[in-house]
Amino acid sequence: MHKNNAILAANCISFIVENQCDYQKDQKNGTFRLTFYYFCIDIFLLVIIMKRIKIKELLSAPAIGSDVTVKGWVRTKRGNKNITFISLNDGSTINNVQIVIDVPDFEENLLKDISTGACIAVKGKLVESHGQGQNIEIKANEINLYGKADAETYPLQKKGHSMEFMREIAHLRFRTNTFGAVFRIRHAMAYAIHKYFNDKGFFYLHTPIITGSDCEGAGEMFHVTTMDLNNIPKNEDKSVDFRTDFFGKETNLTVSGQLEGELGALSLGDIYTFGPTFRAENSNTPRHLAEFWMIEPEMAFYDLDDNMDLAEDFLKYLIRYALENCKDDLEFLNNMIDKDLLGRLNSVINNSFVRITYTEAIQILTSAEKKWEYPVGWGRDLQAEHERFLVEEHFKRPVILTDYPKEIKAFYMKQNDDGKTVRAMDVLFPGIGEIIGGSQREEIYESLLNRIKEMKLKEKDFWWYLETRKYGTAPHSGFGLGFERMIQFVTGMSNIRDVIPFPRTPKNAEF
Ligand code: ATP
Ligand code: MN
Repeated sequence: MHKNNAILAANCISFIVENQCDYQKDQKNGTFRLTFYYFCIDIFLLVIIMKRIKIKELLSAPAIGSDVTVKGWVRTKRGNKNITFISLNDGSTINNVQIVIDVPDFEENLLKDISTGACIAVKGKLVESHGQGQNIEIKANEINLYGKADAETYPLQKKGHSMEFMREIAHLRFRTNTFGAVFRIRHAMAYAIHKYFNDKGFFYLHTPIITGSDCEGAGEMFHVTTMDLNNIPKNEDKSVDFRTDFFGKETNLTVSGQLEGELGALSLGDIYTFGPTFRAENSNTPRHLAEFWMIEPEMAFYDLDDNMDLAEDFLKYLIRYALENCKDDLEFLNNMIDKDLLGRLNSVINNSFVRITYTEAIQILTSAEKKWEYPVGWGRDLQAEHERFLVEEHFKRPVILTDYPKEIKAFYMKQNDDGKTVRAMDVLFPGIGEIIGGSQREEIYESLLNRIKEMKLKEKDFWWYLETRKYGTAPHSGFGLGFERMIQFVTGMSNIRDVIPFPRTPKNAEF
């Protein structure tokens, strides 16, 4: 045991013994209750001295002169034969606490084993720091080594590893400043989303992850089955016989909770979903994942304008929340990852979004002096290059495009009187492109059924969806925000794989 440690233990014992004398005095007086009270205080004080304090809490209100215990992972270690400085991080904040060690007071082998990446507990006194870069430091009395990190093999030795390399060590990348910041912000955003909707009287609705319907009518879904893949039962016409499968029908992982969300909204009023969604699309882009999280509010009695107002207010609320609550992490990302980050976040909250129709956007794009990789024309879907031109070069702020051709949008969107367009809205963001896709929903039974037939979808798959239009239908609207695209925007990370802990993309499901 370290000698300071022995002193600490001796102090504690003498403290208890002193009070013990009080107990005996008290007992003579017959006040048993008081003795028990003293005993509890002793234990309480001991626990306080020994209890771990998180570094975030320690730095926010440092009690100079107090004894503290911190636990965390060593970021750097430097010094000479007399004194060692350790930068310790416990994940609670991007900021480290400096540990000062008088080398002669500790066993040589212990100090040798404490290298970058090692996990330690430190008890010591909180003192003012005269060094640069910090106001306080901990003068170590006792160090406990939980886990070594062999300097020969620990992958996070030096700074400046590439993002690609970090993805290969996703189990360790949390320990870097960048990913610590990203995942703390991700948490804060998830919390803010629930807070925003709760404060507005929305209900969080859990829609199914395994589904029997394909919301978009697109063939981009992952099958869910318990069938033996080496022996798949077939019907006479060679199609798969799903009757023997677990659910007795074809099932998939959901691509969106919207259809079920609508069912909730048409009774609860305002609901939102926030869950994982899955798309087996083979898009190897910096904005697509095969598994991503989506927030989908759905509101009864909202028209498209109400829908746009909500989307704009919601996005601005989240950015403001991040600016107010994730200052240290955002400043770090602004300095290290993207020098325009804070400027861009502030610009979005301080400007109203442009709202134009798809048709107007096509006019702007066709008259722009630009060479496009993908052609522009009325009826064609917009590509990221077009979306980003509108936002980053033409308007220089977020843009909401509405009234898209019905051919390029889903069956459930409300049809306009022109017979050509639907009440869709896509919110386009700088650096991202589409961040939200939404619409006013078709609430008229006949129009919805016609559209299902026109698009050659299976009417019987949507019987329950159609019934909500048959019984007490109501105008309603909603949208989907891709959570990771939002985190990309807020953190300035350029690849979506770096804002989800364990990304799933084509040919990649490690960890
Ligand atoms: P995109 O054209 O960019 O592929 P989409 O039109 O397929 O988007 P929607 O079906 O409207 O997107 O989904 C709503 C939101 O979900 C999008 O605005 C986007 O933020 C997000 N999103 C869609 N697909 C993905 C994906 N593969 N990975 C991550 N987020 C996605
Ligand atoms: Mn898509």
